[in-house]
Amino acid sequence: MAALDGSQEPYPVSGDDSTAIIDSLPDALLVLSENGTVMLMNRAAERMFGYQRGELVGQDHRIILAGGYRMGVRRLFRALLRDGPEYGYSSPFDAFGLRKDGTEFKGEVACALLDTAAGLCMSVSVRATQHRETPDDGLREAMSLLSATLESTADGILVVDTDGQIAGVNEQFVSMWGIPRDLLATHDDDAVIGFVLGLLEDPQGFLDKVLDLYAHPLAESNDILKFIDGRTFERYSRPQKVADKMVGRVWSFRDVTPRLTAQDQAKRAMADLAEQAAQLKALAFQDPLTGLANRKLFHDQLAEALRSDRAVSVDVLLLDLDDFKEVNDILGHHAGDEMLTEVARRLRSCVRPDDTVARLGGDEFVVLLTASPEPDAVAERIVASLNVPMWIDGTMLRPSLSLGLASVSQETVEGSELLRQADVAMYAAKAAGKNRYMRFEPDMMTALVQRTDMEAGLRTAVENSEIFVHYQPVISPALGEVVQFEALARWKQDGEMVPPAQFIPTAERSGLISSVGMQVMRHSFTELKPWLAADATRSVAVNVSGVQLKDCRFADTVLRLAASCSTDPRQLVLEVTESVFFDPDAHVISQLSVLRDAGVRVALDDFGTGYSSLGRLQELPVDAVKIDRSFVSMVRTGAEKLPILNSMINMAHSLGLTVTAEGIETGPQASYLTNLNCDSLQGYLFSHPEPESGLELALLRSADAIDELRGVRLEG
Ligand code: C2E
Ligand code: MG
Ligand code: MG
Repeated sequence: MAALDGSQEPYPVSGDDSTAIIDSLPDALLVLSENGTVMLMNRAAERMFGYQRGELVGQDHRIILAGGYRMGVRRLFRALLRDGPEYGYSSPFDAFGLRKDGTEFKGEVACALLDTAAGLCMSVSVRATQHRETPDDGLREAMSLLSATLESTADGILVVDTDGQIAGVNEQFVSMWGIPRDLLATHDDDAVIGFVLGLLEDPQGFLDKVLDLYAHPLAESNDILKFIDGRTFERYSRPQKVADKMVGRVWSFRDVTPRLTAQDQAKRAMADLAEQAAQLKALAFQDPLTGLANRKLFHDQLAEALRSDRAVSVDVLLLDLDDFKEVNDILGHHAGDEMLTEVARRLRSCVRPDDTVARLGGDEFVVLLTASPEPDAVAERIVASLNVPMWIDGTMLRPSLSLGLASVSQETVEGSELLRQADVAMYAAKAAGKNRYMRFEPDMMTALVQRTDMEAGLRTAVENSEIFVHYQPVISPALGEVVQFEALARWKQDGEMVPPAQFIPTAERSGLISSVGMQVMRHSFTELKPWLAADATRSVAVNVSGVQLKDCRFADTVLRLAASCSTDPRQLVLEVTESVFFDPDAHVISQLSVLRDAGVRVALDDFGTGYSSLGRLQELPVDAVKIDRSFVSMVRTGAEKLPILNSMINMAHSLGLTVTAEGIETGPQASYLTNLNCDSLQGYLFSHPEPESGLELALLRSADAIDELRGVRLEG
């Protein structure tokens, strides 16, 4: 190499005039080393390219080649080397040169191998041919277009010759792969490949593909390259042919990272959307308070269950909490919500995971059992499970429920029919005393029809003033006489007495209760008139339903009726149950206030049976309490200790209320309550309720009973 550095006698020709001869050649002559470095150039070359010798010698020869022609000379060099030194020359070919001033010119190039002391070189002669007008200008233009196209494409292009050497790359390739300029300038293909492999997740896969394509030179391929830094390239490769001869392979690379990222994002967005849709769908079928299925889902599931195998049993358990309205009214809606949530939890724990438990609304729930071996046992379990006390806001509550059970049979094929049967059975459970389950029986339908008949009958009875009254005496043990009559509504349908427990709820539901109540009051004022007139301390007690109190004219109507019948309002006691005090409707309390101001007294009926505690008694605008029969019935021999009765009476007395005990049937009960200082007693022991015509009899029987009691007490 030292001999070729241009500083000494460089020409590898013999003879003294060789330098002068070479310099005098009209054609440009250059000698290139194997790696393409200009080793020597003559004067004509200086003139042709516009470079001084010192500027070009030692540089890569490609700076004097126009774009599109830069790889050609090296490729030729390798071809000549392959053919061997003895045949080492090329035919002349056209190329475009690039002058120092940037202008291009057309030249004819011929190359030959040159064996020097420093190794094999290549001599290149160039003859400017611009003077020749050739049709190849079109080709030159095409080359220029191609070159511009290659540089402007967004894809990275790499051309490799048949020996696996890099024949060319575009700018995009270099920047996409981030190949350092200086590394590229070394033309050390192995180093470039090493750099490229270092970027990839699977360098071996990359190499395998390359080797595979060399084994199949005509094959095309398309695959994906994953980068360690997260990028993804699409790799496309096809053979490069010139006139059907394979001269290399073109690789094109496209950075598809943004596209894949966008696809990923779109996929994720779709997944999010699907999840949200699923959540919305779940919400559409869920009861928001309890998380149970809602009415819609229940109906869907029921329809589904009835559609499938007819051999499989389907049972519907419809249930309704007893007196739930009172929980809401007395303890507030928050407590009501908590109770419903707890009930939902208990219901779920009574059934199998696949069974449907739904809340239909309010305090109404439904359970759907499919292929259950023991629907009655489930119903029993539910009733028992709900009876276990629960604590809500510091108050112990014992929820109870009425449950109707209906099962699919040959006759029932419709879901709506099954639900109706369960509803009828539930109604029967309520009528039978609540806190129980009942299985649907066909004759319950008859009962339903009867109820409907009852309403129609009652309406007619009210219109025809057929409601009449029985009076039950209330006695004062201290005075030993009857001090009050309780007026109890009576109605006969088709000659049969209908118990108030049946027709009063019907009257309340239908709104007929106001008329019933007024008819009872009118009868009482007129029929008891002589008895009341005889002693101003005597009174009549009339039951009033909460529905009546909602009417803001109620107080006025009562007082006007009393006035028209010449009854002193102070001789009237109105019996209400505690639930009327928790009606959010402000009318109710104001009606009672007006009446109390006029001298009417208010008694709290059935005391002790509601959700209200003893402690709340002081808040209620009442003058008297009537202890419910269920407490009185706890007295059997009279020897038992019943602190609850004691507490009730003491509490009421301490609040200045008088106390009546209802349902006194036995002497021991009468004595027991008298000993607890109960102010008055009422019950069959003294007299059953009697019509007006039986008032004398009722008074006589009561007197007898009082005498008997006194005798017992005297004897005792
Ligand atoms: P209540 O106001 O608690 O009336 C007492 C009920 O207990 C009456 O039943 C009475 O006959 C019954 N009874 C009295 N002493 C005894 C006894 O020693 N043993 C037993 N086992 N029972 C006894 P009745 O007449 O069937 O009335 C039932 C309920 O119907 C009444 O309970 C009341 O809540 C309602 N009711 C009756 N008449 C009217 C009315 O005119 N208006 C309204 N709103 N409700 C009424
Ligand atoms: Mg009563
Ligand atoms: Mg009562």
